[in-house]
Amino acid sequence: MAKTDFDLIIVGGGMVGASLACALKNSDLKIAIIEAFPANSAQQPSYDDRSIALAYGSQRIFESIDLWPKLASHSTAITDIHVSDRGHFGITRLSVQAENVPALGQVITARSMGQVLNKAIEQQANLEFICPAKVTELSQSPDYVAITLDDSRTLSAKLIVAADGGNSTIKRLLNLGSLEHDYKQTAITANITPERAHNGKAFERFTDSGPIALLPMSDNRCSLVWTVKTGDEIEILSLSEQDFLSRLQERFGYRLGKLLKVGQRNNYPLKLIQVDQPIQHRVVLIGNAAHSLHPIAGQGFNLGLRDVAALADVLVDNDGDCGDAHLLHDYSQWQQQDQDNVIDNTNILVKVFSNDNPIIGHLRGAGLTLTDALPLAKHWLAQKSMGLDRKQPRLARGIKL
Ligand SMILES: Cc1cc2nc3c(=O)[nH]c(=O)nc-3n(C[C@H](O)[C@H](O)[C@H](O)COP(=O)(O)OP(=O)(O)OC[C@H]3O[C@@H](n4cnc5c(N)ncnc54)[C@H](O)[C@@H]3O)c2cc1C
Repeated sequence: MAKTDFDLIIVGGGMVGASLACALKNSDLKIAIIEAFPANSAQQPSYDDRSIALAYGSQRIFESIDLWPKLASHSTAITDIHVSDRGHFGITRLSVQAENVPALGQVITARSMGQVLNKAIEQQANLEFICPAKVTELSQSPDYVAITLDDSRTLSAKLIVAADGGNSTIKRLLNLGSLEHDYKQTAITANITPERAHNGKAFERFTDSGPIALLPMSDNRCSLVWTVKTGDEIEILSLSEQDFLSRLQERFGYRLGKLLKVGQRNNYPLKLIQVDQPIQHRVVLIGNAAHSLHPIAGQGFNLGLRDVAALADVLVDNDGDCGDAHLLHDYSQWQQQDQDNVIDNTNILVKVFSNDNPIIGHLRGAGLTLTDALPLAKHWLAQKSMGLDRKQPRLARGIKL
């Protein structure tokens, strides 16, 4: 077996890549992370001001890798979820009491998560954090994989994990095919201060122009994700603060009283990307590099973190070749079904809830009312949104690796 510089090189030190490194901190693997942008800098695209709703299952994974206490101090617990449809009868409510869990999820800004993850990887003994550096070339040999960085350095490893996001360089270098769908929708994000206390309640409101999510944050702020048809965001983003709040109020309603303040507004065009074959010879794509999703159900990072938990589970027990094809096959067996299910369910949600057909609108309303009236259906929905509805890797079951 050829001697390599590292056992494992993770390309991309964003939320998913850094979480994988942390999950492997007690392993014997010699690890490198290559990240294109300086840590904690404004250019780092993974750690911007968007808020991430972490499912309860993700909280359990972070607990198992000892990061939860640090993340918890930046997080706000979701204790209730209220789902409604503008202009149609019918709501569904989920609560911690009914589900008998401490929180249905947690809300944290990507920037705060980045600070915690960067600090953890900088202190990790079995890890070299190579940053800023961009991967520009990749070559696969029977026993190892080699990458070239933009400073012309070449590094080798038994396994490369590509966690380099939706515009994955590794995907491009390997010429991998993917299913791509432009939703022709754009997410507008901002922090909103409402008149009434949110009391830990998250709102998802479906409207004929796209869903609006308001998630609870610290200081009684709410994190807004407002999905609109691409093109419409230009006018909405150019509105004055007061006109923006009035437009949002008209779409969202008065469940939080008057909307008083809006912070900096950002926008993200939404596209589905699912790589056909995320496992190649000694290379595996995870997180957004393998699957970029619509944020309608807040599942993108949660799914990426389950990729991390499943991959760490198979890597940690292997004391031989961590790039072995059988091992990657075991990971694929575990995670492919989860990825396919989440992508299918997200697509159904986008189709049903971004549709202004009045018949579908009435069916949606009936579906929400029915779900609210059926405890078993509500429990199923809650388990799904908490990420607890499937076979769990050890980290997700609270078992340390
Ligand atoms: C508006 C919005 C709201 C969202 N809300 C939620 C939510 O509530 N819950 C949820 O679970 N998910 C949510 N998501 C999805 C979530 O943001 C993504 O799933 C997550 O950011 C993916 O992380 P990642 O590490 O895979 O990729 P990225 O965050 O894209 O990170 C990739 C990293 O790789 C680095 N990189 C890229 N190319 C190279 C290279 N050649 N060499 C070295 N480094 C490289 C980049 O600099 C970056 O740091 C939301 C997304 C959006 C747009």
